[in-house]
Amino acid sequence: MQKSMEKIVALCKRRGIIFPSSEIYGGFANSYSYGPLGSEIKKNITDLWWKRFVRDRQDMVGIDGPILLHPKTWQASGHLDNFNDQLVDCKQCKTRFRADHLVESALDIDCEGLSDADVGKLIAENEIKCPQCGAQDWTAVRKFNLMFSTEMAKTGEESTAYLRPETAQAIFLDYKNVTDSTRVKLPFGIGQIGKAFRNEITPGNFIFRVIEFEQMEIEYFIRPDGWEKLFDEWFTAMKQWCADIGLSAKHLHDYEHPKEKLSHYSKRTIDIEYDFPFGKKELYGLAYRTDFDLSQHEKFSNQKLRWRDEGEEPFVPHVLEPTFGVDRTVLAILCEGYTEETLEDGSERTVLKLASAMAPVKVAIFPLMKKDALPEKAQEILKSLQPLGLIQYDDGGAIGKRYRRHDEIGTPVCVTVDYDSLKDDTVTIRDRDTMEQERIQISELKTVLEEKYFA
Ligand code: ATP
Repeated sequence: MQKSMEKIVALCKRRGIIFPSSEIYGGFANSYSYGPLGSEIKKNITDLWWKRFVRDRQDMVGIDGPILLHPKTWQASGHLDNFNDQLVDCKQCKTRFRADHLVESALDIDCEGLSDADVGKLIAENEIKCPQCGAQDWTAVRKFNLMFSTEMAKTGEESTAYLRPETAQAIFLDYKNVTDSTRVKLPFGIGQIGKAFRNEITPGNFIFRVIEFEQMEIEYFIRPDGWEKLFDEWFTAMKQWCADIGLSAKHLHDYEHPKEKLSHYSKRTIDIEYDFPFGKKELYGLAYRTDFDLSQHEKFSNQKLRWRDEGEEPFVPHVLEPTFGVDRTVLAILCEGYTEETLEDGSERTVLKLASAMAPVKVAIFPLMKKDALPEKAQEILKSLQPLGLIQYDDGGAIGKRYRRHDEIGTPVCVTVDYDSLKDDTVTIRDRDTMEQERIQISELKTVLEEKYFA
């Protein structure tokens, strides 16, 4: 079965997972809203991540820093000077492109490190045409900073502020406050989940590349000696996370950045890539950033950002950075789970085979009819299952139709309450993936579901 983005996007809209934003005003390019079910999926991801990487680890703490930071932050981090894309406009149809992407897709040449002039030359010499209108009439290639800027009410040198293009810098800015106010010991990490903004020139592929997105990032502070072992441990933890949210190993690939292409401050970077329907693309990254960030902030702030242990010279800790995009996680699990099946009777069904921990609705409860004592009984069962997560009551249409509806949104199990339930206190449970049905006692229902689906 070919998984197509069109079908996944249509399912997301139809079932209230993800909507194009600002639709009543004709839409707003490349921005999306998470609907009632999408926001549940997102919350499942961020809650599990926070529990796994912050709460359950003694070597981790969390923060929730601001989106707007002191403008000097971005001088120190290098974003003001270096966070650029190369852009080029078609003079005929006025469409704007990433110049490096144009060259890469037309000529299969990696443009990293090439100057604007060199990329422009490649476009001209190879007569690359505009993918939109077919013309060959380009502006010069030029740099474009990806940070969104905004004006503060106060005037002066620092009146321009920037929406953070990554959450990480807020962590470095709080390094001193965290070490002064907690009992962390090296090695330790600070985790954060929050919004980041990038003025991407050619966003696209649904929520893969958007201008406003969410990241889950960790800065893990270490001594430089023995970084390799910790790097490997973090990589293993990231891979375990991928498995636990339901991504199969065959769709995941490690991309080790070649040494000659690493930023000057990075000693090692590996991306975890996923096979999206539009190609193999970066999902997450792990980088060893040495002491670059804290050293830069020391320089620009004139504050000491050091680690001091008794009998030791104070030193700037080094850092490992595991970074996870929330929106790309949502997209990967939707792509992984989307399945179309032809059943024995020749009918078709669409199923989202999500890991139970990721499913927006954990259990659906169906009263067979909307009459007699069935709705009451079903509501009673719903209440008893609520500790498992979002439980949905559904009494609309034939039972078969209700199954299809819940298959499409990935509900792992449906419970039907019928007339026998009123007599012998049993219900039918039906499994999303196997479609097998089983009759069980209501008194055992919660335990059975817990063991089978939510262990
Ligand atoms: P890319 O090469 O795809 O632009 P990147 O290497 O610039 O990504 P990072 O700066 O490493 O990305 O950001 C960390 C994570 O944030 C990425 O692994 C990804 O999951 C997520 N991310 C980055 N940019 C976007 C975006 N525009 N939209 C959605 N998620 C993003």
